[in-house]
Amino acid sequence: MTRCALCDRIDTSSEYRCTCGGPLQLDHFKGSIKEGGNVWSAYRDFFPYNLSKEDSLGEGNTPLIRAKRLSTKFGINLYLKNETVNPTWSFKDRGTIFGIKRALELGYKRIGTVSTGNMAASVACYGAYHGSRILVLVPTDIHEDKIGQISIYGPEIIGVEGDYGELYYESLDMDDIYFINSDNPYRIEGYKSMAFEIASDIDASHVIIPTSSGGLFRGIVKGYEELFQNHILSDLPKFIAVQAAGCSPIHRAFEEGEPVKRWGPPHTIAKAISNPFPPSGDAVLRKLKELKGTCAAVNDHGIIEAQKNIARDGIYCQPASAVGVAALPQLINDMGQGSKVVSLITGSGMKVEGRSTKVNTVTMSDLREKI
Ligand SMILES: *Cc1c(COP(=O)(O)O)cnc(C)c1O
Ligand SMILES: [Zn+2]
Repeated sequence: MTRCALCDRIDTSSEYRCTCGGPLQLDHFKGSIKEGGNVWSAYRDFFPYNLSKEDSLGEGNTPLIRAKRLSTKFGINLYLKNETVNPTWSFKDRGTIFGIKRALELGYKRIGTVSTGNMAASVACYGAYHGSRILVLVPTDIHEDKIGQISIYGPEIIGVEGDYGELYYESLDMDDIYFINSDNPYRIEGYKSMAFEIASDIDASHVIIPTSSGGLFRGIVKGYEELFQNHILSDLPKFIAVQAAGCSPIHRAFEEGEPVKRWGPPHTIAKAISNPFPPSGDAVLRKLKELKGTCAAVNDHGIIEAQKNIARDGIYCQPASAVGVAALPQLINDMGQGSKVVSLITGSGMKVEGRSTKVNTVTMSDLREKI
């Protein structure tokens, strides 16, 4: 059953979004942890599909590393969840796998995504692996370098002129293509696996989440909530959403106590988290309020510094993944000595380089004919 993450209405008329505009999500799961195996089998009661060996490219089940130098520096126990070791080098794979399962279950021949980076690479990779035709919609001003990793998997890539935020909504009306976008309900289900892994490793007091569209934040929180509701955990950690100051619509709305409004053109090196109009923004705000979480924004200088420090604790991550550590100086006073803090290291620093390719471009109104 799907329910709106904003207004709680049960809605079966759409796959993706409620009539109120909020994102739909599957109801909370009931179950228990099974013995042995990896996260996908041990927590299978909590996922919409059982994964077989053939479904998997080895996503998830990533290491949680204690950051020695950073822990000493801040006087806390800081753990880094190393998502750079996923098949396409970001956590997006955890959600893509269920998005693909859903598309195949519904009988779609074509699968699409609206993304400029990690999600596009992930959907293109898993789509190729499962033999689906993949369509990736990107903005026309995308740098050729960014298409390198996406194009190697062989999807159709189309650059679309016009407002990129609008393209997300435009894509959801394309009936013959299943879109696995940033907050697709099945994508969110896959992200819960990260919460399950962390909770089975340590009793975290705080979980810090780099936030753009809000899909990752929602997945982590939903995973923890399901553990709590099923009496597997007796309390929840504090959830902290972090954005880049140069594109921080959720942070601004949190500070002002208003709904999320569109941000202007993003100005940050943290490109992977620069969605100026996050489709799950209000759903994130709702959870932050309900669970007394907090929201921070960090500038590029701090992000670069944090990226270096994370590397010296063993992980080369992309700038977007460093925002959690970059926010520690502003968060530390409220954390208390010896807190067990987890920062999600969402994607690899090796991401930017790659094979270049030319992209076909169309106007948004011509898009339907083109595909
Ligand atoms: C997608 C992404 C995020 C944020 O995820 P959202 O679901 O869009 O909030 C954070 N870091 C990296 C590296 C990403 O690719
Ligand atoms: Zn709704």
